[in-house]
Amino acid sequence: MANEQAPRVQRLDATLANQIAAGEVVERPASILKELLENSLDAGATRITIHLEGGGMDLLSVEDDGVGILAEDLPLALERHATSKVATWEDLQAIQTMGFRGEALPAIASVSRLELLSRARSQNQAARLQVTGGMAAALEPAARAPGTTVRVADLFFNVPARRKFLRSPAAELSRNQKVLRQIALANFPVAFQLIQNGRSLVQFPTATDAESRAARVAAIMGEGFLANALYIEQEDHGLSLSGWLGLPTYNRARGDEQYFYVNGRPVRDPVVSHALRAAYNDVLFQDRHPLYALYLELPPGRVDVNVHPAKAEVRFRDSREIHDFLFHTLRRVIAEQGGAQPRVTVP
Ligand code: ADP
Ligand code: MG
Repeated sequence: MANEQAPRVQRLDATLANQIAAGEVVERPASILKELLENSLDAGATRITIHLEGGGMDLLSVEDDGVGILAEDLPLALERHATSKVATWEDLQAIQTMGFRGEALPAIASVSRLELLSRARSQNQAARLQVTGGMAAALEPAARAPGTTVRVADLFFNVPARRKFLRSPAAELSRNQKVLRQIALANFPVAFQLIQNGRSLVQFPTATDAESRAARVAAIMGEGFLANALYIEQEDHGLSLSGWLGLPTYNRARGDEQYFYVNGRPVRDPVVSHALRAAYNDVLFQDRHPLYALYLELPPGRVDVNVHPAKAEVRFRDSREIHDFLFHTLRRVIAEQGGAQPRVTVP
């Protein structure tokens, strides 16, 4: 009967558990960049610098001037399910931060050589922790202005099967730039810079007034878009929609310049897509796509952000109401502008 014995249940060791979690949140450099940028934003950074080498596959680092991490908390920040952002079930119902799962840093550290260097604003010394494939070295003192730098080198060096799924450095770079554009478009007061192999490729200065915000929109979505977009602001029953709505006449063959944020979080959502498509339905051919950068704000209790490991999806508690608010607001704006604007079509 020996061969019919039930297999024993064993606890996964921490590194393996993190590597499994990494399968969900660490697909490629761009997914790491998204997580690191979100951490910097959650830390209240006003200036964020990204360094890339080899499209982020050889090196990807994010440097910020946020609140920093206490030296004694550095090892904890790299542990699974350790977070400073939620502590109770009530917190989870009213998430105000981009992160909350406590998964990104340990997952990234399990598949790379990661260095966490940070100085809390209240401290006069920085500390550094190096982790290789999930194995942490000893904490060492270091020098740095207040803030945090996360340096991720040799992505997937210990999981070659995953490295094979990465594309060329140029292709990975372009995905990183897309992530940066997506985040920069929702965080105007924060300055961003992206440097690849020592060359500054993207720079978004702080944008705190209408003019500088418009300049950032133009830098990301094109001068043409800005000249063919309406700025809208609408509020109703605790829902607020603002942003730039592209005129139907300024459309594209691909729906790749569509940015929609829910409480500052870029999301893909079928309810939102449906409402937008329906709003443009009468004024746009089926195979053409509008451009927009729209921001929906609602009380955090009305949306569940904890439905997707990479937090790219949300679930609205009252999706019908949200759908109708978006649809009616946008359709009215589109109808009112009545085609008085210049008619330009871009490929
Ligand atoms: P989460 O963001 O879900 O909390 P992470 O694994 O991304 O989980 O980060 C773990 C913790 O490390 C965070 O909760 C935060 O306390 C700290 N942390 C990470 N990055 C930064 C940063 N750039 N500045 C300050 N604290 C950070
Ligand atoms: Mg995070």
